[in-house]
Amino acid sequence: MSYPICFVSLGPGDPELITLKGLKKLRQAEIIYCPATMNKNGQLLSRAARIIEELGIGESAIRLFTLPMSKDRTEAWKVYDALYEEAASAWDEGKKVVIVAEGDAGFYSSIQYIYDKFRENRIEVERTAGIPAFIAAGALAGLHIVKQEEQIIVIPGTLTAEELSEKIKAGYVIVIMKLSQCVEAVHTCIRLHPEANFHYFENVGTGKEFYTSDRKQIQGKIFPYFSLMIIQ
Ligand code: SAH
Repeated sequence: MSYPICFVSLGPGDPELITLKGLKKLRQAEIIYCPATMNKNGQLLSRAARIIEELGIGESAIRLFTLPMSKDRTEAWKVYDALYEEAASAWDEGKKVVIVAEGDAGFYSSIQYIYDKFRENRIEVERTAGIPAFIAAGALAGLHIVKQEEQIIVIPGTLTAEELSEKIKAGYVIVIMKLSQCVEAVHTCIRLHPEANFHYFENVGTGKEFYTSDRKQIQGKIFPYFSLMIIQ
C-alpha cells in the first residue's frame, strides 16, 4: 500500500504553532524533506529542521535540500526537480514521505511546484494547512488585522513607492511579504503617509522575534529575509 506524499505546513517558526494534524504526519513519516540554505561560511541552515527537532521528531528521518537564495529561480527549479525524483522513488518503495514548508505550504511557497508535478504524474498528494507568518504577526502585536468593511491585500515586496502609496491611499490594509525587496518604497511611504500605521515584524515565532510600529526605528532597520509589514 502506498501513502500519499504529504506536504506539511510548519507554521511561522514557533514549534507550538504547527497543527495537530501536521504533527501527526511528521511523527508517522519515514522521510522528511526539509528546505535549507547555505550561509556565506558554507554552513547549512534550516529553520524548518530546527522546528521539527524541537518537536522531538528524530533527526534520522530528516533530509535537507539546499535552496539557492538568488532571485534567478533557474537553480531552484533544478533543486526541486531533483527532489521530485528522489521523493517519487522513495514513495515508490512504499515509504511514508513528508515534505515540509514554513508558514502555510500554499502561501508564497514555491514547493507547490513539486506538489503540482506529483499530481500531474498521478502520484497521490495531500497538504496540511498552516498558520502563515502574517497571521502570527498580527497575534504578536495584538492587531485586529481587518475589521468591518475593510479590505486586505497581500503583496510581495516587488513594488515601487508610487504603487505602494496608491494602495495606502485607496484605504486597503496591506501585508507586504518579502519586505527586504522594497526597503526604499517603505521608507518613502513612511514619510508620505503620516495617517497610516506601519507595523514591522521580523523572525516572528523565533528567539529573534522583533516587532515595532515606531517609524524612526523602522527607518533605521535593515530588513532581513524573514521580515514583513502590515500597514493599516
Ligand atoms: N509560506 C510562508 C511565506 C513564505 S514567503 C507563510 O505562509 O508565511 C517568505 C516570506 O514570508 C519572507 O520573506 C517574509 O516576508 C515572510 N515570513 C515567513 N516567515 C516569517 C517569520 N517567521 N517572520 C517574519 N516574516 C516571515
